[in-house]
Parts: sequence; structure tokens; C-alpha cells
Amino acid sequence: MIEITAEVRAAIDRAAGDMELAGDEYIEPADGLIHCKKCHGSRQTVVPRFGGSVYFMPRCLCPCQQKAQEERKAMEGQRQRGMK
Ligand SMILES: [Zn+2]
Repeated sequence: MIEITAEVRAAIDRAAGDMELAGDEYIEPADGLIHCKKCHGSRQTVVPRFGGSVYFMPRCLCPCQQKAQEERKAMEGQRQRGMK
């Protein structure tokens, strides 16, 4: 995560107009990025490109999504072991 300067914030705000939010997401006014309503973790990150003159705001998994994914993988692993 990079520091949110005024320049970065302007890029985030420009990109925010194109963003579609899921029902459990909101835009955090402090940084302008998408956050999770459940854990309030960040679901979007800022990646500088071309020496920091362009910024990408890719989606990322918030902590509760990461946890859910790990649990799903663990469940699948258990199921596969159980079938043998
Ligand atoms: Zn979350």
C-alpha cells in the first residue's frame, strides 16, 4: 500500500466513478477506496505504474474474504481426503 497523496487521491476519485460496488462494500471517505462492510478491511489497493505517474486500483481480498477462501480450501481438502 502506498501513501495516499493528493495526486493519488485524485486518481482514486477518478477511478471510483467506474467502480461497481457489491452489497457489502462501501467507499471509505478517508482514502476513497473500496472497503468491506463486514471487517472494514480494504478491498482495493493502489499500484503505481510508469514511475508513479499512473495508478492502478485493482481489487483485492479483504481479511474476511481471505479467511473465507482459506476455510473453503480447507473444507475441499477435507472432502477430498474423505472420499479416498
Ligand atoms: Zn471483509
